[in-house]
Amino acid sequence: MENYLLRALSKDKSFRAFALSAKDAVAEAQERHDTWSSSTVALGRTMLGAVLLGANLKGNDKITVKVSGNGSGGLIVVDSDAKGNVKGFIQNPHVDLRKTSTGEVYVTQATGNQGVFAVIKDMGLKEPYSGQIPFVSGEIAEEFTYYLTESEQTPSSVGLSVHLDEEQRVQTAGGFMVQVMPGATDEAIAELESRLQAMPSIAEILETGKPEDLLDTIFGKDEYKTLDQMSVQFHCDCSKEKFGKGIITLGSQEIQAMIDEDHQAEAVCHFCGEKYLFNEEELKELLEESKGLEND
Ligand code: ZN
Repeated sequence: MENYLLRALSKDKSFRAFALSAKDAVAEAQERHDTWSSSTVALGRTMLGAVLLGANLKGNDKITVKVSGNGSGGLIVVDSDAKGNVKGFIQNPHVDLRKTSTGEVYVTQATGNQGVFAVIKDMGLKEPYSGQIPFVSGEIAEEFTYYLTESEQTPSSVGLSVHLDEEQRVQTAGGFMVQVMPGATDEAIAELESRLQAMPSIAEILETGKPEDLLDTIFGKDEYKTLDQMSVQFHCDCSKEKFGKGIITLGSQEIQAMIDEDHQAEAVCHFCGEKYLFNEEELKELLEESKGLEND
C-alpha cells in the first residue's frame, strides 16, 4: 500500500487540490497507541487533515493541530510538516462505539460535539501563527473546512476518511482538500460543489483506487494537472537525548530525588509511545549537567 499525497491544479486554474492516501501512517498510530474504533477514526482523520494542511507549508515549517472537545477521547494533538511526516496522539485511545447493524464508527463519541479546533503554524518566525474555531460538528473534516475558510480566508472543501474492517483494522485512510483560487468564477465553483456532492465516498474510491482516482472523481479525468507527489509517513523525531535535556531542566533537586527514590527514570513519548529508560549512572550525568547550568 503506497502512502502519498498529490498536489494538483485544475485545468482552468480555478482550484488547487491535494489528495492523499495514508493507510499505513494511520495504522501505525493505531498500533503504537492501541486505539479502538472511535479513537482510531478521530485521531486518523486529524492526522490526514494535518498532512493536507502541511502540504501548503514550505521547508522546515511545522504545523500542530489540537482538537479539544467534550467527547470521551479527550485531547487530540497532531504534528505534521511540509515533508509528509505526521505524528499524533489521543488522550483516551480506548473509545469504541459502533452501530451494531452496519459497523459504522461514531467519531463524535471520541471528539465530542462541542469544543475548540486549533491550528498552530511554526514558520520559523518569532511568534508562531495560530488560529482557532469552535467545533462545527466534531466530525473533523468540517472543522478543517471551516478553519480554512474563516481563519485563513481560503474557501476550501476538505474530505477525510478512515475506514475500518470488521476486526477494527485500518482498511483505507485518505482524503482531499480543494481550495478556490483567486479568479475562480461562480459557475466553476457551483460546478465543483455539485461534483463533490455527487461523488462516492472516499473509502469506496480508495478501496480499489489511489489519490489519482480521488482527483479524477473531483475534477474529471484529464481536467487537472498533477504538480508533484510527496510520500506520507508516521514519523516521530523524539530521542533519548531530547528527553535527557528535558530531565536537566527539572533541576538538580528533582533529579537527586529521582536517584534517591527510584534509582532510575522512565520517559514516555506521548506522540509515538516510545519509552526511554535512564539508569542511575545516566541520571548522575544529567544531575552534573543540571548543577552546571544552575551555577552559571
Ligand atoms: Zn516519539
